[in-house]
Amino acid sequence: MDEQLLKRFVKYAKVNTRSDMNSQTVPTTYAQVEFALKLAEELKEIGLEEVEYNDANGFVTATLPSNLAHDVPVIGFIAHIDTADFNAENIQPQVHVNYDGNDIVLNKELGIVMTTAEFPQLAHYIGETVITTDGTTLLGADDKAGMASIVTAMEEFIQHPELPHGKIRVAFGPDEEIGRGALLFDVDQFQADFAYTLDSGRVGKFEYETFNAAQAELTIKGTSVHPGTAKDSMVNALLVAAQFATALPQKEVPEKTEGYEGFYMLSSQVGTIDEVKATYIIRDHDKAGFEKRKQHFAALVDQFNQTFDQPRIAMKLYDQYYNMRDIIEKDLSIVELALNAYRALGIEPDVKPFRGGTDGSIITYKGLPTPNIFTGAENLHGKYEFVSVEGMKQAAQVVIEIARMNAE
Ligand SMILES: [Zn+2]
Repeated sequence: MDEQLLKRFVKYAKVNTRSDMNSQTVPTTYAQVEFALKLAEELKEIGLEEVEYNDANGFVTATLPSNLAHDVPVIGFIAHIDTADFNAENIQPQVHVNYDGNDIVLNKELGIVMTTAEFPQLAHYIGETVITTDGTTLLGADDKAGMASIVTAMEEFIQHPELPHGKIRVAFGPDEEIGRGALLFDVDQFQADFAYTLDSGRVGKFEYETFNAAQAELTIKGTSVHPGTAKDSMVNALLVAAQFATALPQKEVPEKTEGYEGFYMLSSQVGTIDEVKATYIIRDHDKAGFEKRKQHFAALVDQFNQTFDQPRIAMKLYDQYYNMRDIIEKDLSIVELALNAYRALGIEPDVKPFRGGTDGSIITYKGLPTPNIFTGAENLHGKYEFVSVEGMKQAAQVVIEIARMNAE
C-alpha cells in the first residue's frame, strides 16, 4: 500500500488546484474541474462504480458496492480537491526516505530549511518517509493526503475482496478552503447514512466539535472635507473604524483565546476618510454564546450609529456554519465507531474541539452527520507543510477498519 500511496499522493500534489475567493464560478477555478475529471477516470480504472462528476457542484462521487449478504449502514468518505490560498504553482514534492531526525533542507539554493528547533514535532517522524515542499509552494497535503488515503483504501478493498464491507460512497469536492464547496454538496444524491471527512491533522486527531461561525461586513461612511475647514464637519471613517475595533472585547481575539473560548476577529479593513469597509468574523463553540456574541456586535453598531448625525455604519451579518456537535451528540455511535477503529489499529485518539470549521460542519447541517478523521498532514497552508507515507497509510487503514467494524 505504501508505494501506491506515495505515487498517488505525489501525482495529486503536483497539480495546482488552488481555489479562488474572488471567482464566482463553480468550482472557482477551472484547474479543479480538470482535476476532478481526471480523478473520475482514475476511480473508474480502479473499479469503483457509479462514478459521476456533478457539473452543478464540482463534486466527483463513486460507489464501492457491498460484499455482504446482509444490510448495514452506508458510510461516506469525503475529501477536498482544492488547496489553500498560497502559491501552488509548480509544486515539487520532495521525498525524504527513512527521515533521520535532522533539519530538512527544503531548498538548498534559496537556503530554506525546516528546522527541528522550529518544528519539534518532526521527531515523531524519524524512520518514516516524509514528503515536503521545495520551499517555494505549499504541498497541498491538505487535502491531497485525505484524497490519496481514501482512494487507496477503496483500491485495497477491490484488490482484497475478502475484506468485508457494506456499501461505501466517496466524494471529492472543490472550494473547501474558501468555505463554499460543501454548501452545494448534494446529500440526497450521495445517499449515505453517515460520513467522515479526511481533512488534515496529525495521526490520532478526531474532530466532531467545530465553531459556530458568522461574518459581519461593515461599511462605514465618513464625511470628507478639506482638513483646513473641517472643524465640526469632518467625520473620519478611518477613525470610526479604529474606535469600533477597540470597542470590542479586547481579550476575545484569536491570539488570546484557546479551547472553548470564542472570539471576534477583524479580518480585513480598507478605506479612506470617506469610506471604510471592514470584515469581522465571529466564532464560538457554544450556540448560546454565539448568539450573544452576534447580539453584542450588532448592539455596538447601533450604539455607534446613535452618536452620529445619521447612521454611518451599515452592517451585513450572516451565519457561515454551525458546530456539528449539536447534531452528532444526539447519536455518538459514529464517533465511537471511528475511535474504536483507531484503537483497534493502536492509534491513540486525540479528540479536541476544533477551532475552525470543516466541510462536515456544513454537510452535517444538511442532514448527513460528518465528523473529521486525521490525514497525517501538518503545518498546513504554507511552505513547511508535510506529510508522511506512514501517516497516510494509517488514515487509509482507519477507513478500512471503520468499514470492517461496520460490517459486523
Ligand atoms: Zn483541508
